[in-house]
Amino acid sequence: MKPDKLIDYQQILSKITADCRQIDDIGNVASYIPELGNIDPNKFGVHLTTIDNQNFSFGDSTEKFSIQSISKVLALTLALKLEGGNLWRRVGVEPSGTAFNSLVQLEYEHGIPRNPFINAGALVICDILISHLKKPKYDFLEFTRNISENPNLNYCSRIAESEKLAGFRNAAHINLMKSYGNINNDINIVLDFYFNLCSLEMSCQELAHTFLFLASNGINPITNQQIISSRRSKRINAIMQLCGFYDEAGEFSFKVGLPGKSGVGGGIIAIHPGKYSIAVWSPKLNKKGNSYKGMKILGSFTTKTRSSIF
Ligand code: GLN
Repeated sequence: MKPDKLIDYQQILSKITADCRQIDDIGNVASYIPELGNIDPNKFGVHLTTIDNQNFSFGDSTEKFSIQSISKVLALTLALKLEGGNLWRRVGVEPSGTAFNSLVQLEYEHGIPRNPFINAGALVICDILISHLKKPKYDFLEFTRNISENPNLNYCSRIAESEKLAGFRNAAHINLMKSYGNINNDINIVLDFYFNLCSLEMSCQELAHTFLFLASNGINPITNQQIISSRRSKRINAIMQLCGFYDEAGEFSFKVGLPGKSGVGGGIIAIHPGKYSIAVWSPKLNKKGNSYKGMKILGSFTTKTRSSIF
């Protein structure tokens, strides 16, 4: 097998993205959050950053988009720093096998969400963050800007507002969990924080840079900033592997073979611990709410570069 330095990532990405343009995209842009429905469905970007700071990109890789559920990984990272392992009393680490917004397990399991990446779990993480942070929206944004060393990151109030107006299911989740005693703060404050967190905007390039710490035992290898312990970095990757794509986590492992996280804005971040982070963006989603072309690109990428973790 070729050493990493000899793999021509740019050429491989050009070939994959050219092939991908030929495929008919059978996905649909998310429209249950009305503002997300306004995006140009043909946007398409990729950015790869290796732990020795080689960068390769393609298409609309520097254009910002709504990262949606990808931000749940950053929320978990901060919550683990602030709350530590106690957090696992209120949210599990098992795959749900259900859609990201499904309510079915929550009642059987007495208001304890299966994992931090389904909506219910992310709402609990938001509740935990609110209990710790003085100015939750501001402090979370500062955390994200700080770990990515990028002051240009921001929420999109238009998207947060649009989701708030249509967020009936998330309201159902939080009410149910409140009834089981698993939400400590005011539900409207938690929902508002969650919608803002999901509205965070980043480009593929910014995503790949921000998440590189998970490819390097919790330390950003470029800035040497320790973002989280290596033990927790390992665990976050494990949850991404098992839960990052909800009821399609098996398919993502099968086709791509990397820890990853998707968002309904059409973005995906995937991590190869010890090698790289790669972000893709294509807004049309498959039936499970994950980027249709994004999954295809990553599948070809790990096959052609022989760099799945399996
Ligand atoms: N904000 C979205 C929601 O709550 C996040 C879902 C996602 O990206 N999978 O529905």
